[in-house]
Amino acid sequence: MQLLKDKILNEARVINDTVLLVDTFINHQVDPELMQEIGKTFSAIYKMEGVTKVITIESSGIAPALMTALMLNVPLVIARKQKSITTQDNIYTEKVVSFTKQQTNDVTVAQKLLQASDRVLIIDDFLAHGEAALGLARIVEKSGAKVVGIGIVIEKVFQLGGRKLQDAGYRVDSLARIENMSSGKIIFAEKNPIYASPKL
Ligand code: 5GP
Repeated sequence: MQLLKDKILNEARVINDTVLLVDTFINHQVDPELMQEIGKTFSAIYKMEGVTKVITIESSGIAPALMTALMLNVPLVIARKQKSITTQDNIYTEKVVSFTKQQTNDVTVAQKLLQASDRVLIIDDFLAHGEAALGLARIVEKSGAKVVGIGIVIEKVFQLGGRKLQDAGYRVDSLARIENMSSGKIIFAEKNPIYASPKL
């Protein structure tokens, strides 16, 4: 998605080999027009898949996930990272290692929000090692619902989460795929994602 790639090149900051700061357009300040385009793009990719729900983890996946849900005309489920006094008894829980916080969270979803008949699209802002997406996929599957795909705004291909998810049998669609940023310069992967190469 060219608009997204341009935004990344113009505004994202490489913090180190593995972390990209996108706080002016995705996860601190949000660019609504970009989010709308992201939502349109995911909805075009998945429009024939009979998606009944979109799911994301709080918090930075919410903006692209909400726009996708709006375009697909389905509800958005936001999995919670922290239990609060409003957390109900009937919940699905999965442990998810947070890439940015380097801690394990209990991610929860109320059981009433997922039915076995649901066809669920997972959306997140980043794909690194695939922990967040796998945790969500496990929650969806606990309910008996089907994961129709995983839509990612920015995939860091070199961290191999995409390969892990594909090896686990999931469809992954990423709007921008970064192959390398170790020199401080962002290099996008084009036709050959690393995870599409033969397994070592
Ligand atoms: P994973 O679970 O795939 O290892 O990491 C994905 C999660 O970590 C995403 O939900 C995202 O919030 C966060 N994340 C991963 N890499 C980055 C990054 O380079 N920058 C930012 N801002 N968040 C990231």
